[in-house]
Amino acid sequence: MAKLVQRYLDRIREEHVGDTGGALADYIPELACVDPDGFGMSLSSADGFIYESGDAALEFTIQSISKPFTYALALDRLGASAVDAKIGVEPSGEAFNEISVDRATKKPKNPMINAGAIAAVSLIPAAGPDERFALIQDFYSSFAGRRLELDDQVYASEKATGSRNRAIGYMLQSFGMLDDDPDEVLDVYYRQCSLRVTSTDLAKMGATLARGGVNPQTGRRVSTPDVVKRTLSVMVTCGMYDAAGDWVSAVGMPAKSGVGGGIVAVLPGQLGIGVYSPLLDDKGNSVRGVQVCRSLSEQLGLHFLTVARDSRATLRAVYEPREGIRVYETHGDLLFCGAEQVVRVADRERDDFEVAILDVSRVDDIDDAARALLSGMSAALRAQGKAGYLVDPDGVVIRSEKELEAVRFRTVADAVEEAQGWLEQNRPVSPR
Ligand code: GLN
Repeated sequence: MAKLVQRYLDRIREEHVGDTGGALADYIPELACVDPDGFGMSLSSADGFIYESGDAALEFTIQSISKPFTYALALDRLGASAVDAKIGVEPSGEAFNEISVDRATKKPKNPMINAGAIAAVSLIPAAGPDERFALIQDFYSSFAGRRLELDDQVYASEKATGSRNRAIGYMLQSFGMLDDDPDEVLDVYYRQCSLRVTSTDLAKMGATLARGGVNPQTGRRVSTPDVVKRTLSVMVTCGMYDAAGDWVSAVGMPAKSGVGGGIVAVLPGQLGIGVYSPLLDDKGNSVRGVQVCRSLSEQLGLHFLTVARDSRATLRAVYEPREGIRVYETHGDLLFCGAEQVVRVADRERDDFEVAILDVSRVDDIDDAARALLSGMSAALRAQGKAGYLVDPDGVVIRSEKELEAVRFRTVADAVEEAQGWLEQNRPVSPR
């Protein structure tokens, strides 16, 4: 069966194998030495199944795809406000290596251009450059699920020719945006850009972001949902540099490209994609990489703003096991909108029952907003002289609150029995 998906990928790769436009990056001399024909693509599902097509095992340097991960590490170590004090989150509309900062704040405009990425490196707390690089290397490796190694030649090549990045480093220092020695910070930056990955590593790193920070292969939590949310946000607005608007319109996935020829794209909750082809367009994005992501998005319906259908009803069934008792059976993922629907329907029908039973035993996942709404239902019903019980065997709505244990049951039958008792006590003459 996996062959079905494989065929999709092979076909999409086949469609673009003839796109030989673009050029190798040559401003880092070593990057001009790679085979221009290399072309690999990989996809990781949210549960860690990997599909590969073409040169998916070919290693190349991560380059700017490192930027979101170092940004995530800085957020993880310092928290958002400390990071925000030094790096903005506005798209720059400029080339990735523009020597610029925001006019008013003097901060780099975002962490996806070189200025912001160099500032992000300087924020990683460490005793010195080697320790800082080790933290970065470990962090990326935990996303990839294997140890990523340095490409010494590319590192040396970029270091020898990095005048532009040095200009950026010293500019940041002059504006008070870089506390450490610029050359030391740049050395770590060059090393992070020179870590070797494959398209499959990128797919796995993307899938880890898609899972909110859990690597689906190793099962390890390597980042937090809040850090991932912020990182993906910046990837949406700034990940493809000055092509960000085109990219969001045509592809619609948070993504990041690098001049090594890689692109990582993420569909939150669903999958990670890695593509490699080193021929770049004039913005520094892989020509085939962009085309492949475009085709994948169109053919597999991956645009993150696709309004697929009306939100599926959260209420699976509403029924009356006995007179005066109404059961609201929910299913799927309960987020704010689903919980709002349940609360609204129960409220509209409140004259038709004395006891409402909310059955969440088929709910897969629930967020805090929905939990807060639903856990307030019993109290609201009590205030109206009615009763509300919860069937919540796995404790998805109520986890620990002791006083609420009284209204929580393991099965609908238990709740109905309790409701019957309540009716006999409180509505002794006529249950209605
Ligand atoms: N190391 C590269 C540089 O700083 C990264 C640029 C990129 O991939 N866009 O120029």
